[in-house]
Amino acid sequence: MTLVAKLSYSVGMAFAERDLQRGIEGDEFFPVFQPLIELRTGQLTGFELLARWQPAGSSLIMPDAFIPAIENAGLINELTRIMLGKALSIQSLVSRPLMLSLNLSPAQLLDPGLPARIESMAGAANFPLDRLTVEITESALLGDLPRAIAVANELKALHCRLALDDFGTGYSSLRHLHALPFDELKVDRSFVSSMVERRESRKIVASVIGLGQGLGLMTVAEGIESREQAEMLFWLGCDLGQGWLFGKPVPAAELDPILNRDPRECIVASPAQHDGASLLTHAPIPAHRVAQLQAIYDGAPVGLCFLDRDFRYVNLNRQLAQMNGVPAAAHIGRAVAEVIPHVFPIVEPFLRRALAGESLTGVEIAKPPHNGAPAQSLVVSYLPVRDEAGDILGVSVAVMDVTLRKETEARLRESEEHFRHWIRLTPHVPWVLNAKGEVSEASPNWTQYTSQHLDQAMGDGWLEMLHPDDVPRAKEAVRAAVEDGQPVDVEYRVRRPDEEWKWMRSRGAPRFNATGRVICVYGIVEEIENQKQVSRELEICESELRSAINAVPVGIVIADGADAAIFMVNPCAHQTFGDGLFPGQKLPEYSRMGLLDPGGRPLSPEEYPLARAIQRGETIESRPYLLRRPSGVVAHLSISSRPIHSDEGALVGGMMLVRDPEIGS
Ligand code: C2E
Ligand code: MG
Ligand code: MG
Repeated sequence: MTLVAKLSYSVGMAFAERDLQRGIEGDEFFPVFQPLIELRTGQLTGFELLARWQPAGSSLIMPDAFIPAIENAGLINELTRIMLGKALSIQSLVSRPLMLSLNLSPAQLLDPGLPARIESMAGAANFPLDRLTVEITESALLGDLPRAIAVANELKALHCRLALDDFGTGYSSLRHLHALPFDELKVDRSFVSSMVERRESRKIVASVIGLGQGLGLMTVAEGIESREQAEMLFWLGCDLGQGWLFGKPVPAAELDPILNRDPRECIVASPAQHDGASLLTHAPIPAHRVAQLQAIYDGAPVGLCFLDRDFRYVNLNRQLAQMNGVPAAAHIGRAVAEVIPHVFPIVEPFLRRALAGESLTGVEIAKPPHNGAPAQSLVVSYLPVRDEAGDILGVSVAVMDVTLRKETEARLRESEEHFRHWIRLTPHVPWVLNAKGEVSEASPNWTQYTSQHLDQAMGDGWLEMLHPDDVPRAKEAVRAAVEDGQPVDVEYRVRRPDEEWKWMRSRGAPRFNATGRVICVYGIVEEIENQKQVSRELEICESELRSAINAVPVGIVIADGADAAIFMVNPCAHQTFGDGLFPGQKLPEYSRMGLLDPGGRPLSPEEYPLARAIQRGETIESRPYLLRRPSGVVAHLSISSRPIHSDEGALVGGMMLVRDPEIGS
């Protein structure tokens, strides 16, 4: 390198043509490769080729310093040929399905011979041209747009992709975007570098990405140096990223580590953030999610809409259109005041508050009847919607029709009233146990029976009113119901207001959930004092009778029931008949106990006095019979027997009275 060249470089001026020429002849120019990464997956999609000049014995020179000189010297086509030729000679690149991006200078896009040269080089290297992206900066297009369009179209015809480089730095970007068949939009590094700190940059980046998406272009962000930038770009919907974060431009010899890298190293958004729910909180939304979100939006059981700052419908779902009774299409672009004038005055104050930044949820609104449509009860949320820079763009409204629910609630209240009334009338005490076995509800009747206040009966409180002897039984019944799902049927005494004990019977049944667990137990308590009283009296009667019967000096045998089983044998009868006659014994067994007629002939089962009473209802008065005792001695007995009838006159049993001269009197 000459002194002039060194000087030119250091002051950023043009290099002498002969230095450049010598550099080309001396093979001092070479490409470096910078990876392009898919932000969503971390996958390597290709490389951008960037030129470097390494003059012998001097330091490396960057393209910004030599490209203008190369252009001036008319050597730019030669440089492009060198760059592309060297790149296409790298087998590890050509053999993989990766993209290559080639930078072109302004003048080159006006060169009609360029497409053919690219085609022949790619053909020689067996490189399909749909893997080549040609990057053009905006300034390249300013000179002669029609010519540039012609060349661009020719490149497209060869299946090359076209990228608009450094987007946002030129002053006629939009015109070019419109005029040329671009496939890709590269967001300029200057916006990316400041987007985390500067709201304005962020807004520009978001708009550029939105613009790219709107035009169906792939968006690429240049100059990503930090994870934060990459993450933000991902959420803004940018497709590809390029920058030091993913790798600085490297010479061919250093490509392998990048080619063999695990894509997960380059994923910027954490997996948790990939799910749809959190995605919804980030706006704007990557294009591929929009259709899915629209489907959710339309299918939601609530009315949803987004209103701009003038309260005009930007978007709404079918539900809301139905609620408003106006076709969805007739909303878009029109103001709420225009579409539903009868409701607007009611909602306007809330819309204004949301526009001022307040989030309002659960606002109840009574929508008046209108055009034959009945009045409606609505619950509405109004949320301010902000852009990524925090400015309020409009209001998101969610509307739920609760008219039906309100009516149902009213009906429910009414039937609840009926139910309470019914409970007050019934003499029973309905109760509910929760899953822990605690009383959660009970009828006020409990207080009448016990004088215990209902509040105190809740939980385990009711047990205090029980007779101490009955508490374990009641507790066990509750436990068995709650833990084992057993029905409740337990009797216990409660202390009455007059301090007397009164018998009650509590019955109930558990309710189970889907998995078979008891969720609660419903039941009633009823007073059974009268029943208890009757059976108590009966018991007394019976025992009195028994003691009387046992005391008499006459043998008494009573049999009853359908099978005429012996029910009672008094001590006197036992002495006469011994073990041959015992309670529980049935006919005809007890007829075979050695009873003979006065002539000494054994009785047949039907002739047996008790059997005659029971089976035929006959009465026998003091007849003589003979009994052969186990000792062999024959005793003379006098036996009476008679049937026993119920109050209604049915034959229910029989009784036998036996006089044994050797026993009793
Ligand atoms: P460009 O096409 O926009 O390339 C991107 C530039 O950004 C490259 O600079 C690259 O090294 C740099 N860069 C990439 N990631 C980062 C990063 O994270 N941080 C920072 N600070 N910079 C990053 P480079 O290699 O100096 O190239 C500059 C420009 O020179 C290129 O801008 C391109 O317009 C032009 N150029 C490079 N090679 C050629 C070529 O072979 N032919 C033509 N016509 N122009 C070329
Ligand atoms: Mg470029
Ligand atoms: Mg660029």
